[in-house]
Amino acid sequence: MMTITYPVHNGIYVNVTNRCPCACTFCLRQNGESVYGSDSLWLEREPTVKEVCDSIDTWDLNKYNEVVFCGYGEPTERLDDLLEVAKYIKSKSDIKIRINTNGLADLIWNEPTAPKLQGLIDTVSISLNATNKEEYLKIVRPKFGIESYEAMLKFTKECTKYVPSVVMTVVDIVVSKEEQEICRKICESVGATLRIRPYEG
Ligand code: SF4
Repeated sequence: MMTITYPVHNGIYVNVTNRCPCACTFCLRQNGESVYGSDSLWLEREPTVKEVCDSIDTWDLNKYNEVVFCGYGEPTERLDDLLEVAKYIKSKSDIKIRINTNGLADLIWNEPTAPKLQGLIDTVSISLNATNKEEYLKIVRPKFGIESYEAMLKFTKECTKYVPSVVMTVVDIVVSKEEQEICRKICESVGATLRIRPYEG
């Protein structure tokens, strides 16, 4: 059975794709198949919008705080489908909707994508992961190359205009304490909040 949605703490997580333009050194995709007790987040194929909506309908959303687009891959690889699912969720529930992303949607789609999130997405959580573009390239290994870091920061800043909550995350084992402080300043400069998260590999 392929896992499209699965519960984590107070959220329903949605797995829409395994595609990603990056190859982060710490990516869970490289560390075995099963996380969070689900059978497997490797999709046999990408679920259709209808299949995702049907899967969300199997949960009582009143019992959860948020729906999170996440999974083994970059959810904005399917941005339009994701937003269609978000619209469906909004039509039936007040539950908050979050996207966990590498922040490279503008490079994936070659256009500004943040405006599309308005009214549909409540939180965007972007992986910052490094204090400068060279380090970012080494850790995240995006296929777009050295310009990726600046594009990610620009996307983040844009999101603050259209999305109520914009968070940047760093994994605790990836950046040192000193670097965390620099990350905090970078977040402030783009209007986002830093969250340091534990490594879950
Ligand atoms: S951006 Fe996310 S899914 Fe993509 S390689 Fe990095 S950790 Fe993995």
